[in-house]
Amino acid sequence: MTGRVRSVLALGSNLGDSHGTLSLAVADLVDNPRVRLREVSPVVRSTAVGGPEQPDYLNMVIEVETDLGPYEFLAHCQAVENLHHRTRDVRWGPRTLDVDIITYGDQTSDDEVLTLPHPRAAERAFVLQPWAWMDSTARLGGRLVTELVGSTADLAGIRPYEGADTPWAP
Ligand code: AMP
Repeated sequence: MTGRVRSVLALGSNLGDSHGTLSLAVADLVDNPRVRLREVSPVVRSTAVGGPEQPDYLNMVIEVETDLGPYEFLAHCQAVENLHHRTRDVRWGPRTLDVDIITYGDQTSDDEVLTLPHPRAAERAFVLQPWAWMDSTARLGGRLVTELVGSTADLAGIRPYEGADTPWAP
């Protein structure tokens, strides 16, 4: 790969076999010669924030390396969401799979089609906690993720996933 960029992705699911979906989604995201898996976080269980009453989510974070441009990479992530029958009927509603691009190299963008870093990442413990466990040196907007996570409102709703640990390795 030439012109490789490291990107952090956040994955979440709260419909169907969420652990199975996350597992398959990681495999699908890197089933592309232009995307390589670098790191995988533990899976966490989190209480849904906002939206209608809905089941807990399973969330995780991965770091990949890619030479896809940012919009091609977004399209790739959305294609993987679609593979898992993601629909967008209810905003903030339950979903079989959500894939968000948290960072794409150090790029910043205000474009609503692809906002970088992801605009809500800094306040979401379900992104920051697995990310901090995956990479204790990670930074977001110049601040350590391990420090940011301490000031999130939803931190109490995050606990380690009680099932089998993450079976995927880069
Ligand atoms: P959601 O329904 O929460 O998955 O939001 C999907 C929408 O957010 C899509 O229309 C994307 O174009 C847009 N979007 C903006 N920034 C990002 C980002 N960093 N990662 C993923 N989707 C994004």
